[in-house]
Amino acid sequence: MATLDNHIANQVLSWKHIQQCAREVGFDACGIAPAGRLDEDATFMERWIAKGLHGNMTYLERNTEKRYDIRQLVPGAQWVIVVLLHYNKCGHDYHRTIKSLLYQLEAQLGNIPLPTQHIFCDSAPVLERKWAVMAGLGFIGRNRQFIHPDLGSLVHLGELVIGCDVTDMDPADSPKVQSGCGECRICIDHCIREALGLDVWDARKCLAYETHKCTVCQQVCPYNRKQNMY
Ligand code: SF4
Ligand code: SF4
Repeated sequence: MATLDNHIANQVLSWKHIQQCAREVGFDACGIAPAGRLDEDATFMERWIAKGLHGNMTYLERNTEKRYDIRQLVPGAQWVIVVLLHYNKCGHDYHRTIKSLLYQLEAQLGNIPLPTQHIFCDSAPVLERKWAVMAGLGFIGRNRQFIHPDLGSLVHLGELVIGCDVTDMDPADSPKVQSGCGECRICIDHCIREALGLDVWDARKCLAYETHKCTVCQQVCPYNRKQNMY
């Protein structure tokens, strides 16, 4: 840790440079958020788990502090860079595609302090969708999917956690996505298992949770209509 801290003292990244590198590597969008504890999500998830709505996902009962506070999972974390890639560009193995691009992004950023474990794509107790929201990339819809205002929910996410500070990026100036579900409840009304509510997703009822084969609540979402994927 001492070595990392020494680097942090004199090494700072420019947010504009990060955005430019992410574009050059090929990501569709990139955002950033300061590493910290996700208090609201911790409260929400603890209540959700206490009600048993997580079904057999008992792994959610473990590593909770690491999940809620990325600094517990990644010692030395200062900022979380979140990237996004449309399904169409991910090929058959989105983990491999996104991780490969994240390693390219890391190389483009130069010799910066990086925690030992710093690249994630659906691979660790990281609340990815919430980090994407914190990074100003979109919102979480009533279908519980992360939704980008232009690309809808047909995107995969990845994270690069860095151990240095970022210039020209004040947390108070983080981009704020105004779009959201508003009055819409189409996915709730079309859910074939009544698994969705205004503020709830019951994993025990959800067919996708059982079989990974239901996409109804994504197909009907207006944010996905322009994608011509369904
Ligand atoms: S995936 Fe299917 S069952 Fe699950 S919430 Fe969406 S529509 Fe309902
Ligand atoms: S269908 Fe409507 S309520 Fe459901 S996620 Fe999309 S915008 Fe939100």
